[in-house]
Amino acid sequence: MSMPSNQTNAPLRIQRLSSQLANQIAAGEVVERPASVVKELLENCLDAAANMIDIDVEQGGARLVRVRDNGTGIHKDDLVLALGRHATSKIATLDELGRISTLGFRGEALPSIASVSRLTLISALQDGGPAWRISCDGGSTAADPVPAAHPSGTTIEIRDLFYNTPARRRFLRTEKTEFGHLEEVVKRVALSHFDVGFQLRHNRRVVQSLKAATSDRERMERIASICGRPFMDNSVEVNDAIAGLRLWGWIGLPTFSRSQSDLQYFYVNGRIVRDKLVSHAIRQAYRDMLYHGRHPAYILNLELPVEQVDVNVHPSKHEVRFRDSRLVHDFLFRVIHTALSGVSPGDSQKSLESNAVASYQAVDHHGGDESSSLSSGAYISSRDFQRQSTIPFQVREQLSAAYTALYDARSPESVETDNTQQDIPPLGFAIAQLQGIYILAQNRDGLVIVDMHAAHERITYERLKTTFDAGGITSQPLLVPMSFDVSESEACLVEGYEDVFTTLGFELQRSGPTTVTIRSIPAVLCDSRIEELIRDVLADINTYQDSSRIRGRINEILSTMACHGSVRANRILTIPEMNALLRDMEHTERSGQCNHGRPTWTQLSMQELDRLFMRGR
Ligand code: ADP
Ligand code: MG
Repeated sequence: MSMPSNQTNAPLRIQRLSSQLANQIAAGEVVERPASVVKELLENCLDAAANMIDIDVEQGGARLVRVRDNGTGIHKDDLVLALGRHATSKIATLDELGRISTLGFRGEALPSIASVSRLTLISALQDGGPAWRISCDGGSTAADPVPAAHPSGTTIEIRDLFYNTPARRRFLRTEKTEFGHLEEVVKRVALSHFDVGFQLRHNRRVVQSLKAATSDRERMERIASICGRPFMDNSVEVNDAIAGLRLWGWIGLPTFSRSQSDLQYFYVNGRIVRDKLVSHAIRQAYRDMLYHGRHPAYILNLELPVEQVDVNVHPSKHEVRFRDSRLVHDFLFRVIHTALSGVSPGDSQKSLESNAVASYQAVDHHGGDESSSLSSGAYISSRDFQRQSTIPFQVREQLSAAYTALYDARSPESVETDNTQQDIPPLGFAIAQLQGIYILAQNRDGLVIVDMHAAHERITYERLKTTFDAGGITSQPLLVPMSFDVSESEACLVEGYEDVFTTLGFELQRSGPTTVTIRSIPAVLCDSRIEELIRDVLADINTYQDSSRIRGRINEILSTMACHGSVRANRILTIPEMNALLRDMEHTERSGQCNHGRPTWTQLSMQELDRLFMRGR
């Protein structure tokens, strides 16, 4: 065992951290980036009952964040105290910690922010008295307040965030990325506090200007300007209350599902929350209506008595704990499920299509557990044969090994030696299409069953990758250019990522504040649902803003494109079309599995068929 380098072997002595250092460490919990500063400051404005909040930002917030409100203000004698650790006006006793009705309560935000920036605080009460100002750099003790000019309310100015913690400053991303996060925080707050007006400016340019919304129409306008008009057009309102619980907001129709969970806003008593129980309840409510891997869109507010929910669970207060979680879960599920069941097919043209996809999905997802109970061998009961996709996995593996062998056997040398095999391709010739889902084909060994969507998806994906790698995707002009509405931020993305779209084979431009126009599409996608695809790609870019990540995500985007570009269930194929698909599969790498790893085809040999019918040989 090696000796510690400390020669005397005495322990290091304990010392109290200076409060400044302690604050800097704690700041790591709440002050991660400019967006988190804005979150804390906005919460303070709301707690001070402001109904107008102005946010001024420079250089993504790294240089300046200034938040001004018209709330209650801070008493002159409390100004210095407000920057002190654990100093709050919101709770005074342990008992009160159990029933918090404000967004803040720990008294940690201001001292944490102050310790890593240059802070100025100006405030005036609503009694018409004078305004006072204090300043401090890096959490130094602020000098006594000096008189200032300011209407009633409070302004907090944060300059040079992390100027004294270079390590943390280096973690800041580009101005654009930081501002993106910050803007998202403002949107989140604005989507749950309709009675408050917000103005957000970046580098002196107004980015969001939201008047206090009191009527239904004004609320709708705010949602449309933040989430885009299509969300409004494709969502239903919910508003239900039972046993002290109330849920209100808007839920997207299943057909408006997204490839990312980026349009999901859930609030508990006005606080944005990410909660497993909540998302589980919502997912359950959408179950069987959403295509696998898709995410619902929603803006939902849950209101319940403050004693029913513990908000003191997480440093950034993103998580909560419900006293009666079962009740909450069931309530959420019931309200959303009922609201969705009330949606008739006429509400959206596409819901019929989505049902088709859902039933296709149901067939597609058999397997898993049951195949393990059958794992004793290659025995396939007739019941399983009827359902087709419960063929034991081992059998599939053997089959794909056989396929590989067969495929290899078609190399030029072997073709010569075996003339009888030469004419029948490995996957055989199509004989029929079953229920709009499977292609049945006949080869030398017996019956080949192909999941046509899965197979086509893989082929499209491989093809997209190859062409992409070879320097771009062939694009094809649309006969009539197509325009559609998106949110303002999505329109900005289109503007900013025009080049990326060009590389992907799209000619896509912003054509108005909230409109985009598409003129050409990748040739491979000529018969797919383009609008839905563009929305998904935008959501992807929105989530993975950084363009270097986009490169890494291109395959996934291609995969999304492939999925949309592939033949859907219930599309009738002709025999030549089916044969073409089989030949494509034979010439495509990895065509044995779809992009999600499920098999694309399987084989039942004559022997296996004979066994099913107890036909001795
Ligand atoms: P907390 O919000 O948890 O109480 P903070 O550090 O965020 O802790 O704020 C400390 C105190 O400063 C608050 O309790 C509140 O009294 C006061 N304060 C902060 N911002 C404002 C504001 N915009 N308007 C009025 N009072 C404020
Ligand atoms: Mg606070």
